[in-house]
Amino acid sequence: MRVGIGHDTHRLEAGRPLLLGGVLVPHARGLVGHSDADIVLHALTDALLGAAALGDIGDLFPDTDPAHRDADSALFLSEALRRVNQAGWGVVNVDVIIHAQEPKLGPVKQTIRANPARLLELPLDAVNVKAKTGERVGHIGRAEALACQVVTLIDRLPS
Ligand code: MG
Repeated sequence: MRVGIGHDTHRLEAGRPLLLGGVLVPHARGLVGHSDADIVLHALTDALLGAAALGDIGDLFPDTDPAHRDADSALFLSEALRRVNQAGWGVVNVDVIIHAQEPKLGPVKQTIRANPARLLELPLDAVNVKAKTGERVGHIGRAEALACQVVTLIDRLPS
């Protein structure tokens, strides 16, 4: 078995959609990035790649590539899963922490959880999503950015 860790941070800005785990969360501001800036899918992608020692999201999908402009990050996660599976590993579970002062994520946590479960072909009870505020300090607490951390466990696929 192997563990992997992923992290991502993106700035919040008016006039952008807020996508978390592929779910559109109603909010006045959204995350800024070259792709759709979905911190949950980016951190998940990095955690999977990390567990299988396959590099990181920047190696696979450089943000200098115009093809990735406003890209659907579900494609990044699906490609990472394909590579992890191809290397002989299956995903056991993922645990996600979203750091957000605003919006309040309590009401949407369960919705956010279902989408990565579907993308990773995992049962719902193998995916957990937690939400933390920034306690009003630092870039999270001042609501300048959102961040996400993910830990995943992978195991050898039966041969
Ligand atoms: Mg990112």
